Amino acid sequence: MEVKELQSLGNELISKIDEKQDISRTEVLTMSQLVEEFGELAKEVNRKDLRGQDFLKENLADEFADVFLQFSKLISQFNLDLEKSVLDKIEVLKKRHGLD
Ligand SMILES: [Mg+2]
Repeated sequence: MEVKELQSLGNELISKIDEKQDISRTEVLTMSQLVEEFGELAKEVNRKDLRGQDFLKENLADEFADVFLQFSKLISQFNLDLEKSVLDKIEVLKKRHGLD
């Protein structure tokens, strides 16, 4: 599955949830949900150093997925192409650092 397809699946799901819960989605709402999900991811990443517990792969995967879904939704709300943006940036970074 390509990034665009994954993004589209996620966006479709978020739209259905929004409709079901009568949520009016703005860029600010998605941004705040993204930050919320980053917080949940940070809690899982801190599990080892802060709580002396082993990482739980299932929880990490779940939180990374939440971050991706909100992140890709936000990109779509700004009508940006995630794949193109990342590929363009990779080229900029390669040039900046003198890499091929
Ligand atoms: Mg989460």
